[in-house]
Amino acid sequence: MGHNYIPATRKEYTWESENPYYEGQKYPEPTVCPECGAVFKDGRWQWKEDIKEKLPDDVNEALCPACRRKKDHYPGGIVILKGKFLKEHKEEILNRIKNVVEDVSALRPLQRILWMEEKDDGTIEIATTSEHLARHIGEAINSAFKGNFEIKYNENEKFARVMWKRD
Ligand SMILES: [Zn+2]
Repeated sequence: MGHNYIPATRKEYTWESENPYYEGQKYPEPTVCPECGAVFKDGRWQWKEDIKEKLPDDVNEALCPACRRKKDHYPGGIVILKGKFLKEHKEEILNRIKNVVEDVSALRPLQRILWMEEKDDGTIEIATTSEHLARHIGEAINSAFKGNFEIKYNENEKFARVMWKRD
């Protein structure tokens, strides 16, 4: 089974404070994510490279919301890319996505691609941490390469399915 499995019934969270993926969750400072190395400091997650001070040896550890989503296979958005044009320009399109995501992640470390999967028919599925990033990727690809672009939001929770196709 691939990584793209999304449970049919996803748990819904009435309060953000109950949601383990909530980006505004507070942690003791500093807290380091053992998975990706991001550091929670000054009330937000930052990349280690952006932290000037030396961290204490006994620093608190906790999975950041992005790594937790990856571990639990709980994306905030899915981008589905299809079509003949995609097959012919795959490298170009994937590079574009990489650049777009790197720009966003540099400033907002919790905005990331969780996994990417290519199906037998050439369809590419990209799972993102947020509906914003999924939409952002779809818009960037559509503005660069044209095609058909569609977003569907799940009403009860923050989740977007972004579809882009060009033949
Ligand atoms: Zn992490």
